[in-house]
Amino acid sequence: MEITLALLKPHVVRNVYAFREIKQIIQQNFTILHTKEVLITKELSEHFYAEHKGKFFYNRLVTFMGSGPCHAFVLQSKGSIAKWRELMGPTKVFKAVYSHPDCIRGLYGLSDTRNACHGSDSEASATREISILFPELNINQLTAIDSNS
Ligand code: GDP
Repeated sequence: MEITLALLKPHVVRNVYAFREIKQIIQQNFTILHTKEVLITKELSEHFYAEHKGKFFYNRLVTFMGSGPCHAFVLQSKGSIAKWRELMGPTKVFKAVYSHPDCIRGLYGLSDTRNACHGSDSEASATREISILFPELNINQLTAIDSNS
């Protein structure tokens, strides 16, 4: 068992149909340990996406993430990190639409910035990202439960 962070970006949270469909995919594939709507301020977004600072899309990305509420999930399943990333599909929406048309980004992505969702790419990222968006949780306890289950 493994935990990961899934984050639905503002334009899919605003779209009732898209949100419901993606939530259904999540429920079919994972145990939802925690979930909440979260308004990601520019400051929080800059911290969350710090590894991309300086890249050409960084300002666009951190501004977009604060344009409305996001929805965050702490998900658990066997191989949850790879599984959620596979369900999301490629980062680039153009590629997603053509090579993986049924993936979440292929269906609900509008552009590379507005590519519908985020998922942690490693155990270390999952721990870091869950700590940032769910500061009220005890991450050590969560990861201990994770490795014991
Ligand atoms: P992810 O793990 O698939 O989300 O991809 P990354 O960690 O590489 O990038 C984080 C986010 O930055 C992505 O989800 C995109 O929204 C954005 N991003 C990455 N590459 C590009 C790009 O080439 N152009 C634009 N506009 N945004 C990008």
